[in-house]
Amino acid sequence: MPDFVGAVDQGTTSTRFMIFNHDGGEVAKFQLEHEQILPRAGWVEHNPIEIRTRTAAVIQSTLQRAGLQPSDLAALGITNQRETTIVWNRRTGRPYYNAIVWQDTRTDKIAAALERDGRGQVIRDRTGLHPDAYFSGGKIQWILENVDGVREAVDRGEAVFGNTDTWTLWNLTGGVDGGVHATDVTNASRTMLMDLDTLDWDDELLSFFGIPRQMLPEIRPSSDPAAYGVTTPFGPAAGEVPITAILGDQQAATVGQVCFSPGEAKNTYGTGNFLLLNTGTERVRSQSGLLTTVAYKFGDQPAVFALEGSIAVTGSAVQWLRDQLHVITSAPQSETLARQVEDSGGMYFVPAFSGLFAPYWRADARGAIVGMSRFNNDAHLARATLEAICYQSRDVVEAMQQDSGVVLDVLRVDGGVTANDLCMQLQSDILGVPVSRPVVAETTALGAAYAAGLAVGFWQDTDELRAHWAEDRRWEPGWNEEQREKGYAGWKKAVTKAFDWAET
Ligand code: ADP
Repeated sequence: MPDFVGAVDQGTTSTRFMIFNHDGGEVAKFQLEHEQILPRAGWVEHNPIEIRTRTAAVIQSTLQRAGLQPSDLAALGITNQRETTIVWNRRTGRPYYNAIVWQDTRTDKIAAALERDGRGQVIRDRTGLHPDAYFSGGKIQWILENVDGVREAVDRGEAVFGNTDTWTLWNLTGGVDGGVHATDVTNASRTMLMDLDTLDWDDELLSFFGIPRQMLPEIRPSSDPAAYGVTTPFGPAAGEVPITAILGDQQAATVGQVCFSPGEAKNTYGTGNFLLLNTGTERVRSQSGLLTTVAYKFGDQPAVFALEGSIAVTGSAVQWLRDQLHVITSAPQSETLARQVEDSGGMYFVPAFSGLFAPYWRADARGAIVGMSRFNNDAHLARATLEAICYQSRDVVEAMQQDSGVVLDVLRVDGGVTANDLCMQLQSDILGVPVSRPVVAETTALGAAYAAGLAVGFWQDTDELRAHWAEDRRWEPGWNEEQREKGYAGWKKAVTKAFDWAET
């Protein structure tokens, strides 16, 4: 058995490749960012060809930097930004349109129309999702309706759909020369097209969006030795690696944080925030604005479900301070600036740039900064931005506790923003529970590697993986109850100011 496992993490801002050893330790990694294409207000796109090229490059570079051959990898897993939608021609390998990114709101009218005639309830019951521009179904419909020639190409069997897992897999397994057109249950559960009971595409749901079944990938388990074919990073003569796992990024982070038992939860702080609570093989229906989603399905074992609180804008609000407002020049500087003041000086920032996701699901919301006086400055804004990340997380923690009765005694965190010490302290203050970060902060890639390694017997079972988890840092709550509740009441009031801005 080779000594290592690899994982491609095709994320929203970058694509990285990571190599892990038998202890779940990081051996090597390399990443490349890709362009965020913002053609109009509310539209967010990526160039699939750029993603394809960068993916191949990061795999090659990481192996070279580590001095390893493809044959040193026992298996490879893929994890990805979810919901982001690509339609391409399987004969030419060319996309018909840029990838429409999960944050893109151009399909909010498609989503709103679903609510008006009862189809929304069918979607909620069958898929566990709220009809929203966030999910892939409406994005596929938009491409079918707005890009010339696609519908005819679907009829000819040439145009196919995939999220970025499927696009990556298809290209890594040969592309036009017989690439595998498949996805896993976790990604499929984010389309509004898969029935959570059958774990298969549902004809009635497909009819809501006018999507022909033949353009969809085959749905397979998240971890399976025979599932996904092989890749040859340096050409067929230089060795191959079996691809044995696919998991959406948030589900992968849940696996990477070893949340394998019902009641275990993690919160990932990246472009957006995503809190997932393992609910076991039981599908819990949310009454509080959370989603029901597939957490993972390992081989022929039953699928494990999760309740999810998705927040669209957290780390990307920090990017906004940097790239649009220019009040900081790097993301870590948000901390230095925010530390110049004791508190946010009464200011609240609701970064509802893509509407508000969980628990509000208000596509009509837009960003609001409220509570200002002439006293406020850029440091207050930086602090209000970090607080907004934490208050949005409190909203979903409250919803999760209402739905599941599970009261968190500690919040397991990961993702880029957890490098921000002040933000993590504020999170603990605002929630009133300790916040704990593991040694391996790259839990998304780690989870994909775990799923891939389990499939080939590199790791025996989930208990072996549990033993790898180790705490790196813990933050304890500092605020008293009065401070906490006063702050949160202000946030709830600020959120209402963000409603009713977009035309839907
Ligand atoms: P993704 O996987 O969604 O691309 P990452 O986990 O790589 O995201 O995190 C990137 C995000 O984290 C960016 O939005 C960036 O603004 C934010 N970020 C990175 N470092 C910091 C920091 N020190 N303080 C605040 N935000 C940060």
